[in-house]
Amino acid sequence: MHFFDYRDDDFCCEGVTLDRVATEVGTPTYVYSRATLLRHLRVFHEAFGQRPHLVCFSTKANSNLAVLRTLREGGAGFDVVSGGELFRVLRAGADPRQVVFSGVGKRPEEIREALAAGILMLNVESHGELLEVERAAAALGTSARIALRVNPEVDARTHPYIATGLKQHKFGIPLADARAEYDFAATLPHLEVCGLDCHIGSQLTTVQPISDAVARVLELYRELRAASFDLRYLDVGGGLGIRYDTEQPPAPPAAVVAVMDRARDEGLTLICEPGRSIVGNAGVLLTRVLYVKRAAGKTFVVVDAAMNDLLRPAFYGAFHEIRPVQRRAAALIRADVVGPVCESGDFLARDRELAEPHPGDLLAVMSAGAYGFTMASNYNARPRAAEIMCAGEDFTVVRRRETYVDLVRGEE
Ligand SMILES: *Cc1c(COP(=O)(O)O)cnc(C)c1O
Repeated sequence: MHFFDYRDDDFCCEGVTLDRVATEVGTPTYVYSRATLLRHLRVFHEAFGQRPHLVCFSTKANSNLAVLRTLREGGAGFDVVSGGELFRVLRAGADPRQVVFSGVGKRPEEIREALAAGILMLNVESHGELLEVERAAAALGTSARIALRVNPEVDARTHPYIATGLKQHKFGIPLADARAEYDFAATLPHLEVCGLDCHIGSQLTTVQPISDAVARVLELYRELRAASFDLRYLDVGGGLGIRYDTEQPPAPPAAVVAVMDRARDEGLTLICEPGRSIVGNAGVLLTRVLYVKRAAGKTFVVVDAAMNDLLRPAFYGAFHEIRPVQRRAAALIRADVVGPVCESGDFLARDRELAEPHPGDLLAVMSAGAYGFTMASNYNARPRAAEIMCAGEDFTVVRRRETYVDLVRGEE
């Protein structure tokens, strides 16, 4: 459910026509819907009902300050994977006690920053990291709340680049080693071992892998409880899929209920870390057609957005629906929608049927709110796109378009 649709024949985000956005802000531009963000977040909160829980939005999906602030106002906590993301969520007014820090490669200074900020817990992913957190907490004369991220060895059945819960992946501590690492952590005087964490992958389209992972992790939890560990938090990660094309992902309540069913009798506070399922369908990438090029029997719609703006098609072969901003009668053509970057991998859609566009037309690349702007780069010395947030009939530029001067900042 999102608030992007046609009003008559003009494609709108809430009450704002994308045509107006292009006129006032230019293209390419990321367009976010505030109402959609809040609605998606509310669905998670409502699914948990009275159960103690935290919805920690996965900041890497979209780290724009206005997005973070909106979600904060909707009662979200945050999952961060770097010191930079921690800086962003604190800037956005996050309550540190609702922030968890995940990631296999936390640097010592990032650990210190998290401890100094007083975040809820660090999700620790290795033996070496346990030692590093102990060292940092001792140096600061504090105690570090931690969970261990365990790798439950379940197949998320998703794209190999975004599956994280199998033996061959770099993430988490193998389930078989987890008990020993908990016992070790308990011997470290500056650690407060308070949670258990897993995250098996992204764009999951069935609940089963999540449910299987939680079942495995709960077995470990019961074993630890019997051994007098006082764990209070179960973090089940994120990963719920969205509809890009024909996928039929489960609705968030179905996933939440499956988790609550598994963890029914435990007094644990449940934490989830959704990213894509909150912000994915709350954003589109607005782009303008530059040329319609016919070559060797193929048609290329050349637009002003490229792989540096939205990497997912090039990186994952991901599908994004593309809609005309002005709907009108037009012949259907089959075309590749490509950007200006000098790479054959630079495409937004391949072999796609679409209403024949003309140079100057605007297109909306759908479901671009997650892993869109956050994965953008300056490749080909392309300034990064503007970002705007719509609320009702109004919109705000929440990140101005980069300039050429921005491109050379910090260079001598
Ligand atoms: C990326 C990530 C998430 C969010 O995944 P989504 O598929 O966007 O919901 C949650 N937790 C961790 C640890 C992650 O790395």
